[in-house]
Amino acid sequence: MSCDFLALALPGVQKLSPYVPGKPVEELARELDLDPAGIVKLASNENPLGPGGKVLAAIQAALPELTRYPDGNGFALKQALASRYGVTAAQVTLGNGSNDILDLVARAWLAPGLNAVFSQFAFAVYPIATQAAGAEGRAVPARDYGHDLDAMLAAIDANTRVVFLANPNNPTGTWFAAAALERFLAAVPEQVLVVLDEAYIEYAEGSDLPDGLDYLARHANLLVSRTFSKAYGLAALRVGYALSSPQVADVLNRVRQPFNVNSLALTAACAALLDTDYLAASRQLNDAGMLQLEAGLRALGLGWIPSKGNFIAVDFARDTTTLNQALLREGVIVRPVGGYGMPNFLRVSIGTERENSRFLEALAKVLERG
Ligand SMILES: *Cc1c(COP(=O)(O)O)cnc(C)c1O
Repeated sequence: MSCDFLALALPGVQKLSPYVPGKPVEELARELDLDPAGIVKLASNENPLGPGGKVLAAIQAALPELTRYPDGNGFALKQALASRYGVTAAQVTLGNGSNDILDLVARAWLAPGLNAVFSQFAFAVYPIATQAAGAEGRAVPARDYGHDLDAMLAAIDANTRVVFLANPNNPTGTWFAAAALERFLAAVPEQVLVVLDEAYIEYAEGSDLPDGLDYLARHANLLVSRTFSKAYGLAALRVGYALSSPQVADVLNRVRQPFNVNSLALTAACAALLDTDYLAASRQLNDAGMLQLEAGLRALGLGWIPSKGNFIAVDFARDTTTLNQALLREGVIVRPVGGYGMPNFLRVSIGTERENSRFLEALAKVLERG
């Protein structure tokens, strides 16, 4: 007889449901016998521009060193981030995606008997990382799909060690303004680490959305996490980072894997950080695509949650399971968010003009058929 390794797993782990990613193009092609070239994937908030030339050249140049371990301290990238953002390298933590950062936080500060506070409809990794650490996740009811920061403050107790905030949030696209963040940071107990997840900040710069880095100097309990996966277009390489006080960074450095960011990711991120043209093009394409999708949705009589990310949550006012299946048969992959408690919505990433058109055409066709 074999052992029950599920029963032997930590109680928090036993109750975990794995993260559900957007369906890969090749998987849909296999399942429905479709030509992968004809499939449009708008399901994972990926950058539709494809990798930039400077990034590809940097990766090419790094290939002969593949037999060597990467720089475990990520010296060059930490220096580049520090000088870009006016902090010291000791304030930078690199992650295998910013997902890694969220996980490191949970492993360093959460355990059974402790809790983390986050919002209803917030990024799925917060409850997963919290539960995997054996801690209690406190999902605070959202207001208009966005974070209710006052209610989140009220949910904090003596056993709260971490609050996760996403600005803008995924999958809703909702955001909060500087004044709200300032009130929150002023009121949160100083022993609670505030993780401000700014995975989409590059799409929102110059709007009323605050830049978390402006608050680092005044709040030693603030950690700002960012990523190269979205506006910088490096999702496959897995590289993200946190900026925090040196003490918080020191703790994270103790729990991370020695070589958590690979050498191609390090070199590509350095190149991407300098490629301001690519970033500007990402923004421009996203701004135009958002307008295109909003106009198309309006024409179809559909509602959505206003978004400052590179995606939009569309409200169909009825369960979207069948609709999603129909879109898949049209070769269009979007993201169902029933797992987030939003069964009436589909989250659609902003693509190229052609991809957005394909989605809108497929949607019109599928809705017409009922
Ligand atoms: C995509 C995303 C991330 C991180 O992605 P990585 O690829 O792990 O850097 C983090 N937070 C939110 C809210 C996201 O949507």
